[in-house]
Amino acid sequence: MNRRNFFEKAIPASFALGTIASSCAPKTQLQYPDKHFHIGRGYHQIPKLRLSMDRIVKETVGLRPFRASGPRLDVEQLGNKTIVHNYGHGGSGWSLSWGTGNIARNNVLATNEKKVAVIGCGTVGIATARLLQERGCEVTIYTKDVPPNITSNLATGTWSPASRVCDVKVAKPEFKAIWEEATRFSFRRFQFFLGLNDIACWAEEYGVFKQMPVYTPGAGGEDFEIHGLIPERVKLEAKEHPFKADHVTRRTNLMFNIPSYLRHQLQDFVMFGGKVKIQEIKKLEDIDALPEKVVVNCMGLGAKPVFNDQELTPVSGQLSCLIPQSDVNYKLYTQGANFISRKDGIYIGSNGIVGNWDTTPSKEQTEKTVGILMKLMEEMKG
Ligand SMILES: Cc1cc2nc3c(=O)[nH]c(=O)nc-3n(C[C@H](O)[C@H](O)[C@H](O)COP(=O)(O)OP(=O)(O)OC[C@H]3O[C@@H](n4cnc5c(N)ncnc54)[C@H](O)[C@@H]3O)c2cc1C
Repeated sequence: MNRRNFFEKAIPASFALGTIASSCAPKTQLQYPDKHFHIGRGYHQIPKLRLSMDRIVKETVGLRPFRASGPRLDVEQLGNKTIVHNYGHGGSGWSLSWGTGNIARNNVLATNEKKVAVIGCGTVGIATARLLQERGCEVTIYTKDVPPNITSNLATGTWSPASRVCDVKVAKPEFKAIWEEATRFSFRRFQFFLGLNDIACWAEEYGVFKQMPVYTPGAGGEDFEIHGLIPERVKLEAKEHPFKADHVTRRTNLMFNIPSYLRHQLQDFVMFGGKVKIQEIKKLEDIDALPEKVVVNCMGLGAKPVFNDQELTPVSGQLSCLIPQSDVNYKLYTQGANFISRKDGIYIGSNGIVGNWDTTPSKEQTEKTVGILMKLMEEMKG
């Protein structure tokens, strides 16, 4: 074959190869120039928050159940009872509820018992109870309180599976794989809730900073990440956003409308034959007295005194709730403040005070976060 012939034959073949190679190659931003096409038509239209102290209708302080080594998910034998632990999710209990519920479910199924007690009626307890029902278990939830009087009701409601989930300096290396398994399971599960009266939905999330935010690894941060689950965070150029800030990012994230989500979950639990009994567990003997042989412990922070868990610590977080605004349906975080727009209100927060058991809201904290966000809104274009 002469040189000219070789090229004539080789060009279509290598072109085809190139096509195959590029369809298998990781998708780069270059291949999707219209990824943020709506921004290309001018800066993204972002409605302003109507902010003033008299629009704050509720202030709450919730206690995240934090364990430096990560949530407790082991199995313990207590006399003739098998205790399956599932508590201590820090700032990620909503996000991980299905995933660690699945780990707990596998531990329950290994016992071959079909009558199961779940202690706790928070997001973790109800998700675990529902998963057990799906495998034919007869589940009774024993609980001191039901929604809305639970910590889960005082959360922001965003997909944040790594938020204060552990202290990476303390957690065992194998925890990362457990976390990843739980995160992936939860994420798939949440897809089934999309479209169901907005109990879970997607929302735009903006990060707005005048100085480049400094990431400090350790307790409280998001040290784990799985690429490819949710859309990547992208940096916006000055012409693409209305904020007076040099470091602006945007991504789309999952969020949960907490009151309707909890209501939906409880209704499903009861629809599938579940029973809820109001009962406080004060000591291990109270668990021993339950009729079920297998007990799943989803008591959150309530597990501390009963199981003498020295590691379990509250990390308090205050939220201040603004009257909802129908045109505002995004999330935003900036230095010292963030907000999320839910159906029941726009929740401003949230701080994290390690070891604080005090659930009294502080007016100063509300004024501080409202002040930061008011300035940001005033400086916004449009
Ligand atoms: C301000 C704030 C913001 C947050 N934001 C997010 C977020 O955006 N995304 C996210 O994924 N997570 C978030 N979290 C974390 C999340 O709310 C928690 O991890 C989660 O609520 C823990 O759920 P749980 O079911 O384990 O605990 P809980 O909701 O506390 O439920 C525990 C249950 O056990 C019962 N119980 C306790 N003690 C006893 C007892 N002795 N006897 C009988 N019953 C008992 C309680 O009555 C309750 O029913 C946030 C938390 C806070 C405080």
